[in-house]
Amino acid sequence: MKIYNTLTRQKEEFKAICKDEIHMYVCGPTVYNYIHVGNVRPLVVFDTFRRFMRHKGYKVKYVVNFTDVDDKIIDQSKKENRSIQEITDFYIQAFKEDAARLNLLESETIHPRATEYVEKMVDFIRELEEKGAAYAVDGDVFFDISKAKDYGKLSKKNIDELKSGARIDIDEKKKSPLDFALWKKQKESMEPAWESPWGMGRPGWHIECSVMSRSILGDTIDIHAGGADLQFPHHENEIAQSETHNGCTFANYWMHNGMITVDKEKMSKSKGNFFLAKDIAKIFDMEIVRLWLLSVHYRNPIDYSQEVLEQTEASLERLYNAKYNWQDLLKETEERELSEEDKKTIAHLTNFVTTFDKHMEDDLNTADGISALFEMVRFGNGAFNGKSNRKVIAEALEKLNIIGEALGILYKEKEGIEDSEILALIEERTQARQAKNYVRADEIRDLLKEKGIEIKDTSAGVKFTQVR
Ligand SMILES: [Zn+2]
Repeated sequence: MKIYNTLTRQKEEFKAICKDEIHMYVCGPTVYNYIHVGNVRPLVVFDTFRRFMRHKGYKVKYVVNFTDVDDKIIDQSKKENRSIQEITDFYIQAFKEDAARLNLLESETIHPRATEYVEKMVDFIRELEEKGAAYAVDGDVFFDISKAKDYGKLSKKNIDELKSGARIDIDEKKKSPLDFALWKKQKESMEPAWESPWGMGRPGWHIECSVMSRSILGDTIDIHAGGADLQFPHHENEIAQSETHNGCTFANYWMHNGMITVDKEKMSKSKGNFFLAKDIAKIFDMEIVRLWLLSVHYRNPIDYSQEVLEQTEASLERLYNAKYNWQDLLKETEERELSEEDKKTIAHLTNFVTTFDKHMEDDLNTADGISALFEMVRFGNGAFNGKSNRKVIAEALEKLNIIGEALGILYKEKEGIEDSEILALIEERTQARQAKNYVRADEIRDLLKEKGIEIKDTSAGVKFTQVR
């Protein structure tokens, strides 16, 4: 497996610290709002990475944190006039609903909340202070970046340029403008606060990830991941404080996904081109969004539009049609000894999985991996019919399943609806239309659509097709 490591700016052969177990940390959401399409990308990309590594035989200890103490949460709590606990519980629940729709492997994900680790954060900061790498000023504690080895090594930022840039926003308390807050003094009584050697206060954002990662995964982990926008200052600061504190490498590989544009423009609330996952889910099945996100290499930018999701919907339908048609063939065909021809077909099918693996092993090239999946489907559709050997069809379905599982798609099963039931509903709809009861007619159309049946009104009467 080759991974592009942001730290070295090159693809490197992946070597796990433990032979067959990977320790991976993905920076998770600040839970003060619903997640938007930009938050969805790292969730899907790194879930797919984890799934693929599982497919390659690794166990993956996988952490996605919830930042549940932050200025934005405090602001939101004032705005909604709800307690901080209510706000964070509510948006964590909303996150879980989105995660389920995106088919993220939640049962195998560890979700620590920052507030559960505050004591450990206080210890960590105190230890940094003892090492002379942190200093307290009037209830706040800052990290002294001059004490960090190679500060800027991840983002490749020039420290002097950064310093002069940061001077615009100068904080009298800091020794250097690049020093950052480890602990923030409580300003108003309604702010959440914990006791500490520096008085009542709360942790800064960067320290949360360093401490949760260390507590759950250890001093040095295999992979730390997140959006490219987190490289600086978040990940740079995590490295500085963790490596200074732990005295060893924080993460061996750094993976960053590219950003999302909407209709070729930067996504922003003010432009109104801001899409929440839960709102997209009202129009599109989130499996479509998942396939769309994986259709572009994770490091490249990706552009969101209604049209591209519609195209992806048609692509996903092609995949499901193949799956369901092959499943139907499985019932119709007979099982025989494998002929030479059958063996060749199976070898051909195996090749598609090999090709898929090869692309995925090249820094998670899901775009080409998905092409291999489509080639397999095209091949199978052309090769299989009622006279095929059932054993071959079963092999094809198994391979389709292996690839689907690694990508986190194609997991739905055909909903059982008998033809007689469909015909009865179509008849009821026809009568409803004749009675000008269009509400009922539309209801029936939607009901059939939910069951994967699309109906078309043609000059020769109503036709229906099974779409999935
Ligand atoms: Zn983080």
